[in-house]
Amino acid sequence: MSEEGFELISDEELKEEVCRVMKALYQRSLISALGGNVSARAPDAKEFWITPSGVFKGAVETDDLVKLDLEGNLIEGFLRPSIEWPLHAAIYKNRPDVNAVVHAHNPFTLGLALSGIGLKPISVEAVMVLRKVEIVPFAFPGTDKLAELVGKAASTGARALILQNHGIVAMGANLLEAEAVAETLEEVAIAQYVSMSLGKEPPTIPEKDIELYMKLYKM
Ligand code: 13P
Ligand code: ZN
Repeated sequence: MSEEGFELISDEELKEEVCRVMKALYQRSLISALGGNVSARAPDAKEFWITPSGVFKGAVETDDLVKLDLEGNLIEGFLRPSIEWPLHAAIYKNRPDVNAVVHAHNPFTLGLALSGIGLKPISVEAVMVLRKVEIVPFAFPGTDKLAELVGKAASTGARALILQNHGIVAMGANLLEAEAVAETLEEVAIAQYVSMSLGKEPPTIPEKDIELYMKLYKM
């Protein structure tokens, strides 16, 4: 354990976890053959591991990963880093509490956002795991403009961002947390979509209970 109480994590462990999360998200259809990317760093590190660009996302291996500094300089690795590296770096620069970033193409989450429908506190997970979701207006993938908008939205303390006309960004203190945020976005979006398609306005968890949860779990 480090002084801050973080579990010390080796590069090898980080890389294996990045590959596990990529595979899991691919199997859940949250990322596609060529869409989506994942990165992670050790707590407080100024460098991060990220998935390569334009390769099949369902079978990324540890040797495929690339290590960059926050300005995008190559530190380790052979392949071209994800085109979204500026977005990942912008989050690490703005959020010292975030050590893992997932960018996925969640179809139901995006579908609701395209229809102007926000995610509601329909379940305990929607409240506890997602906490704060921000919408980022469209900017072309891989651009500095997108990174700037994402950095700004992330600095509000959000755990999840919806990139309009594109996909989502999930953040966490570690990869498991970021993975859970990406999955929960889609679970909530699907449940809400089912309820709304059956002509119902889904009931939500009452505000006073949300406040109680927040206090209880010091969120
Ligand atoms: P990369 O293959 O470069 O990571 O790009 C995929 C993607 O989702 C772009 O937004
Ligand atoms: Zn994308």
